Amino acid sequence: MGMEKPFSVAIDGPSGAGKSTIARASALRFGFIYVDTGAMYRTIGLAALRSGLGPHEQEGVRALLPGLRIDLRYGPSGEQRMFLGDEDVSALIRTQEVAMYASCVSSMPEVRAHLLEAQRSLARTHDVIMDGRDIATVVLPDADLKIFLTASAEKRAERRWEELRARGSEEEFGQVLREIVERDRQDEERAAAPLKIAEGAVVVDTSELSLKESVERVCALIEERLGGVRG
Ligand code: C5P
Repeated sequence: MGMEKPFSVAIDGPSGAGKSTIARASALRFGFIYVDTGAMYRTIGLAALRSGLGPHEQEGVRALLPGLRIDLRYGPSGEQRMFLGDEDVSALIRTQEVAMYASCVSSMPEVRAHLLEAQRSLARTHDVIMDGRDIATVVLPDADLKIFLTASAEKRAERRWEELRARGSEEEFGQVLREIVERDRQDEERAAAPLKIAEGAVVVDTSELSLKESVERVCALIEERLGGVRG
C-alpha cells in the first residue's frame, strides 16, 4: 500500500443480490481486504437471540451492547471470521433466523453507532471492498467507487434457496421469498441508515447476469476507477 491513500469500494444492495460473493472475488483479484459488514450485524443478532431476547426487544439489545466483544479477524486464507467473545461464530450467523434478528437490531441507531468506528477504521488502514446497506451513504461517503448491486426479489430468493438447499436446509421457496421481501422492506423503511442508492453510485443489476459476469462487471468498474486515481 505504501504511502498512498487507501482505495475504497463501497457496495450496497438488498440481501441476495450477490454482494458478498462478488465483493470477495473482486477483493481477491485486486489484493484488497473484503469487509462484510452484514456479518457484524448478524453477530449482534446472534447475541440477542442467545440472550433469549425477541428480535424486537430493543431495550434488551441496548443493555447487551456494552458487554459485547465483537471481533472481525481474517483466517489463514484471508477469509473474514466473526468472533463473539472468544468464540468463532462465522458459521452460526448464517441462518435465516439470525438474518432476521440482524435486520431487526440493525434498525437501532445505537447498534449502528456501535459498529461504525470499526468499519471506518478498516478503510483508513487498508485498500478495501466493504459491503452492506449503508456503506456509500453513511460509513464511507467518500469512497472512491460506490456500487449499488441489486436483482429482482424472485432471482434473489431463488439464489438464497439454492444456497440453503446446498447446505442441507429444507426451507420452502415461498418462505425464503417472503423473508427476503420482508427483510427488504425492513431495511428500506427504517429511519436509521435505510437502504438506498447513494448519490454517484453505479447501479449493477445482476438479475440476468451469471456470477462470473457480475464479477467481471464489478472488476471492470474498479479497474477503471483505480486507473483514474492511481494512474
Ligand atoms: O448482508 P446480510 O444479509 O448479512 O445483512 C444482515 C442484515 O444486517 C441486513 O438485513 C441488514 O438489516 C443489516 N445490515 C445493515 N447495514 C449493513 C449491513 C447489514 O443494516 N451495512
